[in-house]
Amino acid sequence: MNKNSYTITFNQILRRIKNLSISTRVEEHLQIREDLNSSALDDIAIFKKMSAVIFSSGFNATVVKDMWPELKIAFKGFDFEIVEGWTEKEIEELMKNKKIIRNKNKIKAIIFNAKVFNELIKEYGSFQKFLSKQCDPEKIHTYIEKRFHYLGKITTYDFLKRIGLNFMKPDIHIRRLYKRLGWLNSMSDNNKNLNKIFEISDSISNDTKLNLNYIDGVFWLFCSGYKDVMTMAVCGAVPKCNICYVNHCKSREVNFKNE
Ligand code: SF4
Repeated sequence: MNKNSYTITFNQILRRIKNLSISTRVEEHLQIREDLNSSALDDIAIFKKMSAVIFSSGFNATVVKDMWPELKIAFKGFDFEIVEGWTEKEIEELMKNKKIIRNKNKIKAIIFNAKVFNELIKEYGSFQKFLSKQCDPEKIHTYIEKRFHYLGKITTYDFLKRIGLNFMKPDIHIRRLYKRLGWLNSMSDNNKNLNKIFEISDSISNDTKLNLNYIDGVFWLFCSGYKDVMTMAVCGAVPKCNICYVNHCKSREVNFKNE
């Protein structure tokens, strides 16, 4: 498939999700992604995004969103200078709080990360300054994944995307869609597949002049159906091929139960 074909499919999907919207929520959601700019975020806002990614791991996005106000209260607004000093006593108190996600490993990771984050701020002056000293986006990814806890390969991409850097989050939704479209041979998160996802997404970005976060948002809404924004997922766990605009999709007649 040539670059242009990827973009044609992207545009078909974009048209479909915009037509499904019952309000302007799709436009708003995508606009927020387009406008995200890491330089507008201070250090606490960036640490908050990192912690949100950790809490979101393995959870439906809406569950975390609903608990987020209580999580912010419990974690003192994610002020890393406060959180880094927490001990077993604070962990036990958090574990009793029924209004938050009570996952001890995640709580411990956030306290550990607060210490590392503060060390990084002391070393560079700010997270922005740390970013500005790095020339290679992939090296930023490797550094973050290695130095912080509970951030794996995919969740680190999610964090970098959420702070406004030009990244996709090649999660299971995106990999499943790309596989169904015939762009990947499997849904594995191996490096070959991730590189292919980035190559395709870059080509769409070059054609459309849209950033990767926006493109990620279009595909993600189409196949995850984030309920705050969409009334349904077109290519979710149960694909609705009968209403899908992607006529040339290689999986249109597939039995999805065997995926
Ligand atoms: S035709 Fe079906 S499998 Fe293909 S992208 Fe559309 S909903 Fe998904």
